[in-house]
Amino acid sequence: MQEQSKSWKFTNEKSPKKGDSKKPDPIELESCPNNGTSCKDQRAEINNRLLTSYEYFTNKQYHQSIDELKFAFEQANQLNEGTCLSCAGLFRLRIMQSLEHIHGELQNRSSSLFRSKQYKPSYEYAHTVIQEFKRQL
Ligand SMILES: [Zn+2]
Repeated sequence: MQEQSKSWKFTNEKSPKKGDSKKPDPIELESCPNNGTSCKDQRAEINNRLLTSYEYFTNKQYHQSIDELKFAFEQANQLNEGTCLSCAGLFRLRIMQSLEHIHGELQNRSSSLFRSKQYKPSYEYAHTVIQEFKRQL
């Protein structure tokens, strides 16, 4: 996993540069066996989903945020044939990282005394989807 991430640059969503009008793509093309020609559409779709998911996340709409990641994951799964297998693997890894981030946040919120009930369903949902993703990584 460590070696694979060298070929793709992951943008850290948590620290966007102030003054940047355009958001950077969560996944930027750095190297792909096909120069991105085969995985271009999926990458664009996955980047859109990741950005939307992050917006939901910052609005505390966790269910919607997780659903966006599920859609993104389905896009990555469409690359399961051809020369972009490694790209698909990295996309899935990147989506998984986002989901684990949400999961961690919900874990914190669920363990706080007053918020436990409010966020518990989302936490359980995140947990279920993580297990689904793990089976397909
Ligand atoms: Zn590719």
